[in-house]
This record gives sequence, structure tokens and C-alpha cells, in this order.
Amino acid sequence: MTDLVELNVSEALDLLNKKEISAVELAKAHLAEMEKGRFLNAYITETPERALADAEASDKRRADGIARPLEGIAIANKDLYCTKGILTTAASKILSKFVPTYESTVSQKLIDAGTVMLGKVNTDQFAMGGSTMTSYFGVSKNPWADSNGEYTLVPGGSSGGSAAAVSAGLCMAATGTDTGGSIRQPASFCGVTGIKPTYGRCSRWGIVAFASSLDQAGPIARSVKDCALLLEQMAGYDPKDSTSVNKGVPNYVAALGKDIKGKKIGVPKEYLMEGINPDVKATWDKGIRLLKEAGAEIVEVSMPHTKYALPVYYIVACAEASSNLSRYDGVRFTTRVEGKTLDELYKNTRTDGFGDEVIRRILLGTFVLSAGFYDAYYIRAQRVRRLVYNDFKKVFDEVDALLTPAAPTPALSYEAMKNMSPVDVYLGDVFTTPASLAGVPALSLPVGVSKEGLPIGLQVIGKHFDEETVFQVADVLEKSAGFQLKPHRVKGA
Ligand code: GLN
Repeated sequence: MTDLVELNVSEALDLLNKKEISAVELAKAHLAEMEKGRFLNAYITETPERALADAEASDKRRADGIARPLEGIAIANKDLYCTKGILTTAASKILSKFVPTYESTVSQKLIDAGTVMLGKVNTDQFAMGGSTMTSYFGVSKNPWADSNGEYTLVPGGSSGGSAAAVSAGLCMAATGTDTGGSIRQPASFCGVTGIKPTYGRCSRWGIVAFASSLDQAGPIARSVKDCALLLEQMAGYDPKDSTSVNKGVPNYVAALGKDIKGKKIGVPKEYLMEGINPDVKATWDKGIRLLKEAGAEIVEVSMPHTKYALPVYYIVACAEASSNLSRYDGVRFTTRVEGKTLDELYKNTRTDGFGDEVIRRILLGTFVLSAGFYDAYYIRAQRVRRLVYNDFKKVFDEVDALLTPAAPTPALSYEAMKNMSPVDVYLGDVFTTPASLAGVPALSLPVGVSKEGLPIGLQVIGKHFDEETVFQVADVLEKSAGFQLKPHRVKGA
């Protein structure tokens, strides 16, 4: 019998449409796997009753001949998406009891497309981090074991719960968000695929805000095609988000299966940085070779401001976060910790409710926005952000897409990360932050394996609103790379 938790979204849709499987069977198989996989701590909230009710309704719609595009597909939502009537924590203590009375636009679109929600998955607190270690609900585990067969590795972050759940078969696909790499880096660490679309492609309405000029929603799934299927449903203009762009959403799946002969793929020389893991470098070389063999023209390009992207990102993201998070004051949304005065109430609530990393970023952000330092840091960062953007603009006059690593290393262990300074942790975002600052679409897919047998992802970056080329190139790379290993087979759960 088909192992239902190993099916890709596209395969499952096929079997559902042929009535060989039902949405209820699919949901039940995943709920059972979620139970077995609880040690991974991928979910913050499981919603089995909702899943079964959704699945039953899906089977009925299919029987009635009114199936929607993703009818019956079992997914999880990052716990940053507000879900009506269902706990939404942003993995924080301050929102640990927050039950929204509304549904985010993107999760609503996925409901309207027929998906079945299995639950809400773990993330770094307020999406700040790259390991899920800043979550108030504890770290998630990477389903890929270390060389001793132990689960000691981080799944990456911030969408680490999403990537771990997709990788381990605890859902078929999941939503993520990406501000500076939070879809792409966990996808790379867990051997799955994820895309951060162009800024403005998906509505941010109803997603807990981190840094509003950078935040984007996107899918994490087990294939390029699945990401295309999901993104097509998630994307689109929303009058409730003034930064969402009123542009038609193309049929992304139609971009797949086309050859890339004559396409120009840029390889930015500045991405070859000190500290890049040799297996990551080897995987990058492999990707370049595979695209060349597929008929693409490989062009070495220069993006001179790449090295400034990381510091600029941390100034801009922290500045915006300090402003966005001011709303958690003990009066609205949150769990209140009383004080004698209003100021004390704020102070007590926020001291109790925010984790260390969140507080660090609020302090940093407040500092760079403060009167004496605004010009020196914030304004200057905005200017340099424009230079990073110009690098992309210029290079895209010459090439159709870029190929780079997604992260400088494969998944690290908790132990290693615990002993790293915050700045060393931030350095893990070197390859993902430039595309975030420029707002261009970027996808990470597994292409190689490290000496220890861990997955390594590569990043395909495209022009604004040209997700189609990104999918097309990634699809060719996926087929030629032949990345097959799956961790839940390894652990035999
Ligand atoms: N790791 C990055 C950070 O901590 C990116 C986070 C994100 O994209 N949400 O800011």
C-alpha cells in the first residue's frame, strides 16, 4: 500500500482525484505520524478534530464534483499566521494565550483552496532566529539524525517547525514566513524545498509582523512542483495589505518541465566567502555543473555590495521590529502582568513576555532609531539597502536567474549553536539576506549531501515577480540532482 505520509502534494492530488485515497485517510495517516513524531516538537498546537472535519468536507466536495485546487491536502501553518479561533502564539510567552478572532489572508486562501489544517508549527519567537531555539515552546528537532543516529541537530529557522514537519512526513506542506531567510535556510537544513516569493506577492495581513518591509509568506514542501502548487493559491493582491501588489498570479506549474537551454544563470563571485563549508561549496559547484549540462549559460557576475547586506538587514529588521512589537503592551492581545502605574504595567508585561533574543532586537532597533543615531545607522542602512537592490537590478539586465548556496553550513547541533555569540548566529544569514533586502524571489532546494549525510540546499534567485523562471530553473536542478533521501525512511518511524 502507498505510504500516505510519503506522498508529494501533486501525487496525492492525483490519487485523490482518481478516488484511490480519501482526504480522511490522508488526514488520519498524518495525525498518526504526528503522534509518532512528537519527539521532534514540530507542532505547537495540533488540531485533529478540525483536520478530520475539514477532510470529511473535502471528500464530500470531491464526491459532489466541486473539488477545489488543493482539495484534501493536509498542511500545517507556521504559528505566526493568525488562525480564527485557534491559538496563535508566534512561539512567544506574551502571545501564549492569544486566540485570534480573524484568519490571515494567506491561510484563508489555503482554506478556500481546499486544504486540511493539521495544526500550527513551531518557529523562532516572533520569527527571530535561525534554529527554533528562541521559541518559548522549546526547540524543534531536525528529523535528520547526526552521524551517531541521534537527533541533536537544529531544523534551522525561523520556519523550523514547518521544515521539520514537512521533512518528517508530519504534514504534506506547510506555510512559512521569510524575513531574512526563514523559509530558505530551514528548507536547506531539513532537505526540503521552500520559496520566498517577491515582496508584495503574498498578503501579510494577519501574519504576526516582524519587519514589515521584509516579511513575506511562502510555502515549504517536498518538491518544486508542490511549492508551485501551493504558492499559486497563497499569492495574490489583498486590499487589506497596502504592500501587496495588484498583479495577476501566473500558473506556476505551467513553468515546470521546460528546458533551460540558453538561459543565463549568474554566479555571484562575492558569495564565495570565507567560512563557507567545503561540502556547501562542492554542492554549489555541482549545481553549476548540472545547470550547464542542462544547456544553461553560466555567467560569473559581481554584486559588490553583498557583504553589507547582513549588517544592513540587522539594522533595518531590528528597527522595524522595535516598532512592530510596541503593540504588545499588556493592554491589548497579551497576557498582562500588573504594575502600580501604566509604565510599570508595560514594563512588567514586556519583561515577562519577551524572550532574550526578542529583547535584544528591540533594544538594538530602538537604539538605531534614537535621535542621536538615526542618521548614522538607520538612514545609512536604508541607503546601503538601495545599493544592494541596485546590484540585483544591474545583474538581472545580464542574467535570468542567480544560483548561490542557501546557507554557509549544513544543519548545526544545538550544542554548537548554544555556544555561539549572537553575531556568529547572525552570520548564518549571509546568503539569504541580500535577496530579502532587494525583495526578489528566492527558492531553496536540496541538491547535495554533506560528508555526515546531511542535506545541503542551493538558492535560485530571480527577478521581481518572475517566480516562473525561479521555478523553471529549480525544477531542472531538482530533476538532475536526484536528491532522494528522506529522513523518515532513515529513522524508520
Ligand atoms: N535568521 C534571520 C533572523 O534571525 C531571519 C529570520 C526570518 O527570516 N524571519 O532575523
